[in-house]
Amino acid sequence: MLKIALKILNIIEDHGFSAYIVGGFVRDYLLGLDSKDVDITTNATPRDIKTIFADACLPNDDYGSVKVIYKNIRFEITTYRRETTYQDNRRPDSITYVDDLLTDLKRRDFTINTICMDKQKKIIDPLHGIEDLHKKCIRTIGDPTERFSEDVLRILRAIRFATTLHFSLTTEIQEAILHTKYLLDHLSMNRKKEELDKIFASPNMLYGIELIQQLHLEEELQLSNIKKVTYCTQVIGVWTVLEVDNIYPFTRNERKLMTDIRYCLANNPLDPLILYQYGLYTSTVAGELLGIDKKMIAKAYQRLPIHSRRDLAITTPEIIAYLHVEAGPFLQGLYQELERKVLQREIPNKRNSLLKACKKIYEVVV
Ligand code: ATP
Ligand code: MG
Repeated sequence: MLKIALKILNIIEDHGFSAYIVGGFVRDYLLGLDSKDVDITTNATPRDIKTIFADACLPNDDYGSVKVIYKNIRFEITTYRRETTYQDNRRPDSITYVDDLLTDLKRRDFTINTICMDKQKKIIDPLHGIEDLHKKCIRTIGDPTERFSEDVLRILRAIRFATTLHFSLTTEIQEAILHTKYLLDHLSMNRKKEELDKIFASPNMLYGIELIQQLHLEEELQLSNIKKVTYCTQVIGVWTVLEVDNIYPFTRNERKLMTDIRYCLANNPLDPLILYQYGLYTSTVAGELLGIDKKMIAKAYQRLPIHSRRDLAITTPEIIAYLHVEAGPFLQGLYQELERKVLQREIPNKRNSLLKACKKIYEVVV
């Protein structure tokens, strides 16, 4: 990935511009972590970048950045800029392209996100990000109260980076959060959810939960159940416990999953009927929230005599022929009862036993 990123720098510089890798990639590289994408900062304008990379996407907003997919890696190429006044404590009203790297670095959020790498792999760190990487500390560029008031998303980004990197927040940042957290009202629920998803997805999520409580953000984030949260490897498990289905924007799938997990929680995720109906994933998340070992759930799932209706050792034509009846809606109830009997091991999953059971069920139902 680094090699390809350096190649991109070379291509931009070959066109007479300067360009550096910046942000998450350099920070994670110095920490020995993998990155998903690469941010590049340059004095080339979006128009220049689009000329250089014919297949570059158009910027989808007015914020001077172009996304380029090169050799399957996502690059976000942004022109050096200064942000002027901010609207709604979130987006700058206007941006001005500038000529020098340092001005661009100063508008960034945290020191650890301002470290640059040039095409020779040389590190450029005028705002002392490396020092804070060593100290394991999140520090804003400039006064944190000012920076959070400009863009309140930075509060959640600070907590997110502290969580995923297991860093501390400077005392100044903590105090500034207490003073500016009321501005989180201005942040869309979508943005809040995006950051919270990243916090909850971290193996270190409990630290993030602790920070949210320490900084008294439960109210602004509408997370009244936060004290109930326990460690969960699945983000959806955390949301299930938080019970904010009607407050945060969830997809239809996420909503269904949370409802299903709650059903498994209220019942027993090791129950064969539950395992069969809700499947391994949902039962495992519920199990994790209940402190049941993942392996135990997996074993119980493996041991189910059937995993789907197709596994029943009988077919519809066989049932119909045996009962001397025509197919009809009664089959649905009949199959459900067969599944229950097999899962609860009242009968074996054998053709003859199933046919006999069909007769009994049919007599009761019809
Ligand atoms: P990751 O990509 O791992 O989530 P990142 O630090 O690269 O982390 P991005 O959202 O990709 O984060 O942003 C790239 C860089 O842009 C950041 O490192 C930071 O320098 C700057 N940046 C992003 N968001 C903001 C913001 N809200 N305010 C100031 N600077 C920001
Ligand atoms: Mg990034």
